[in-house]
Amino acid sequence: MHNKTLAELSKGLSNKTFSSEELTRHFLDRIKTLDADVNSFITVTEQQALAQAKAADAKIANNEASALTGIPLAHKDIFCTEGIKTSCGSKMLDNFIPPYNATVIEKFNQVGAVSLGKTNMDEFAMGSSNESSFYGAVKNPWNTDCVPGGSSGGSAAAVAAQLAPASTGTDTGGSIRQPAALCGITGLKPTYGRVSRYGMIAFASSLDQGGPMTRSAEDAALMLNVMAGFDSKDSTSIDKAVPDYTATLNEDLSGLTIGLPKEYFGEGLTPAIEQAVQAAIKEYESMGASVKEISLPNTDLAVPCYYIIAPSEASANLSRFDGVRYGYRCENPEDLQDLYTRTREEGFGEEVKRRILVGTYALSAGFYDAYYRKAQQIRRLIKHDFVAAFKDVDIIMGPTVPNTAFALGEKSNDPISMYLEDIYTISTNLAGLPGMSIPAGLVDGKPAGLQLTGNYFAEAKLLNVAHQFQQATDWHQQIPVTKAEG
Ligand code: GLN
Repeated sequence: MHNKTLAELSKGLSNKTFSSEELTRHFLDRIKTLDADVNSFITVTEQQALAQAKAADAKIANNEASALTGIPLAHKDIFCTEGIKTSCGSKMLDNFIPPYNATVIEKFNQVGAVSLGKTNMDEFAMGSSNESSFYGAVKNPWNTDCVPGGSSGGSAAAVAAQLAPASTGTDTGGSIRQPAALCGITGLKPTYGRVSRYGMIAFASSLDQGGPMTRSAEDAALMLNVMAGFDSKDSTSIDKAVPDYTATLNEDLSGLTIGLPKEYFGEGLTPAIEQAVQAAIKEYESMGASVKEISLPNTDLAVPCYYIIAPSEASANLSRFDGVRYGYRCENPEDLQDLYTRTREEGFGEEVKRRILVGTYALSAGFYDAYYRKAQQIRRLIKHDFVAAFKDVDIIMGPTVPNTAFALGEKSNDPISMYLEDIYTISTNLAGLPGMSIPAGLVDGKPAGLQLTGNYFAEAKLLNVAHQFQQATDWHQQIPVTKAEG
């Protein structure tokens, strides 16, 4: 059952080939036997999952089921779950049990999906390797000496190791697409405002967006059908009708114009990844698409711009963790100042502290104009690059990441080289556009990702373009052989 897509599992449930309870037990067993090597889960909610599965079986028996009823999923531990620990990968929230559900969780509950538990992640979603988690690093199922990417590394690894058929992630600068690329799965970051951020612990509020991590584009469409939509509890949620994302998956691609940004194929890109991307583009040409070279001239400013804006927003968002309201509190504080200082000193990890320092500095009087305002101006230029490009092309393609999964520890003492992991993904967030990563090859036995970037609210087009590739190729069906499975 674990090698089936959501679409196939849904069929199996409605045909009564297996029950949701059987399916859920199967995945819980796999997590028990295989996750020791991967460390993709922080919390496994066995009892709750089985109760949800029984309720789903009743729904199916009463013909009240929809596509994801009874399907087990895993959620990034950034989404608040009522009565279930939500740690955000941090010691600061190791004791935090939210009294409410994030809207995304609520939506999956409403359709009767099952939650297997909460997945590991970089602390407060800051990172590209999943090594900054308080709960230890996640291992890449393709090679357990390598990182799975981050920050949604647990969600990506769980799907790649087939410990969950699909998962949720969040993407502030690449955290869905980059781990999807490194773990050989399909990941979609929707347009900013398409999926509610309510109850999703905030990192950089103007960039954060939740989305699906799956084994195929069709599965991502099924997930997005549930996740997308207006939410009055999120002030930046957009009130726009949600199409059925599965309805247009099979549209013909003849006449599609693909833009290849010349800045995405330069220095720093591993030649074998470039070859995989070029082979994918050839595949698209054989489907009737045409290719046009484009330029996104401000690409090299994206990483520095992001590393002013994201830490600035993070420094404001993380000020709430003060030892007073919730989360970790230091022992025996001498006074209020000591409570704040020691709580934050002991509760946050190194990368989070680095971001808070950078952000506080960039926002402080005297530096605001030089850094924060400047970064906002550059952000506008980056957005304009895309707006101009989409006048000529329907979709932009390139590599998701310049390299394949790197060794654990390889970049942990070099923040700049870690930050460059997101060189191709970050602009999409700064512009608020939707982006996807799909598997497009194997390089030395490790997955390579193809990135697709669409115009605002063009998720249906992205999914259509990704699905057509997956109809013609089988990269998305390749699976790693985990150690315990042999
Ligand atoms: N790797 C980037 C960072 O560390 C992006 C993280 C994310 O998208 N949450 O900020």
